[in-house]
Amino acid sequence: MIRVGSHTVRGAVVDAQTRCAHWAGPHDVLAILFPCCGRWYPCHACHEEEADHPARRWPAGVREPQALLCGVCGETSSIAEYLDASACARCGGAFNPRCSLHHHLYFAPQR
Ligand SMILES: [Zn+2]
Ligand SMILES: [Zn+2]
Ligand SMILES: [Zn+2]
Repeated sequence: MIRVGSHTVRGAVVDAQTRCAHWAGPHDVLAILFPCCGRWYPCHACHEEEADHPARRWPAGVREPQALLCGVCGETSSIAEYLDASACARCGGAFNPRCSLHHHLYFAPQR
């Protein structure tokens, strides 16, 4: 568990920029707020290992919540900002482009 900005990030975190045991590449600096428990985790696997409940996804069309946390600057981005770009809306830091391959784990299909 680490503190990033004013937020607590749980799970198998391995550094101060929210990299975790599962995703520790140079651009793996994004944590997500899980709507089921309101907690921040670096990835789906971290939630699965630590939480006592199945992960819920953000419903389709929900775009306003500040649900993405950049491990570089410690600032949050909205779901809309994240889905529309692959960089932090605050500091411009690039996120792992392969994250988009896993959007279905975190977001219900957008219509
Ligand atoms: Zn949860
Ligand atoms: Zn993880
Ligand atoms: Zn940032």
